[in-house]
Parts: sequence; C-alpha cells; structure tokens
Amino acid sequence: MNSSDSGLYVLVLYLAEREAIEVGQRGTEVFSPGWQVYVGSAKRNLASRLARHCRDEKRLKWHIDYLRQHAPLVQTWVFPWCRGGECRLARRLEQIGRREAQQFGASDCRCGGHLLRVRQQDKRLLERSLREAGGWKVYDRYEASVTDASAEVSTS
Ligand SMILES: [Zn+2]
Repeated sequence: MNSSDSGLYVLVLYLAEREAIEVGQRGTEVFSPGWQVYVGSAKRNLASRLARHCRDEKRLKWHIDYLRQHAPLVQTWVFPWCRGGECRLARRLEQIGRREAQQFGASDCRCGGHLLRVRQQDKRLLERSLREAGGWKVYDRYEASVTDASAEVSTS
C-alpha cells in the first residue's frame, strides 16, 4: 500500500450561528456556533478525499457532508495514518472542545464521536494542539472566513 496517500485528517469548519441541521438518517440536530472540528481518516485516496470535502457540489454521503453544506471549510490538517488514530485524536481534542452530536462520523467504531465543537476564542489553542498531535496544516482559509463573518455581523 502506498502509505503517502493514506492518513488521518482534521477539518475545521466554521458555523456562524446555532443551527438545526438535518444529518441524513440521524435526523435533525442542533449545532453550536464556533469551530466544528471533524476527525476523519482515509486508508487510501486521501488527496481526493480532501478535495471532495472542499467541493460544495456533491452527493451527500457522510455525516460531515451535511454539516459542511452549512459551514464553510476553514482549515484542513493531515496526520500520519495509524489504525484507530482518529478516535484517539478526537479524545485528545476533548481537552479543548466538547463532543458535538454523539457518534457523529463514528458509525464504524465505538467511540463517542469524531466531531468536536471548539469555542471561537480557543482557535489558537486548537492549532497548537493539532500541531502537537503531529498534524500538518495543508489548507487555510481562516483570514477569509473571519472577513466573511464580520461582514455578516455588520449588516445585521
Ligand atoms: Zn471513533
């Protein structure tokens, strides 16, 4: 197996306000505003998986796809592949965030879920924690998202 195209990844989405979102079979769930941090993994085709998460137009398949329709992607991080690593990484991130939506993105494992909500003011803490966990930031639209968010505030 070509290990360079497998890995764990973290998507940081920005949800501007509290919102009820339909997540496929799970039904409608309420998500809190701030950073929605999703831990995923790809045994292969990591690059195309990440490209897919960037795209807006697609058939909705995974839990994260539904949330992604309401929350722009702000950052993507990649980590070396390790079995079960996404559950451990999600648990580690509980130090700075709290689990959002039980079992979200965790249909194939027995952990509490792969989605965490991190408060807006804890962004620096989040970045440091992801870096310490061995992550590489490969995509960053943070500046653009902040501009968008403040524009929304000033017009409302
Ligand atoms: Zn898990």
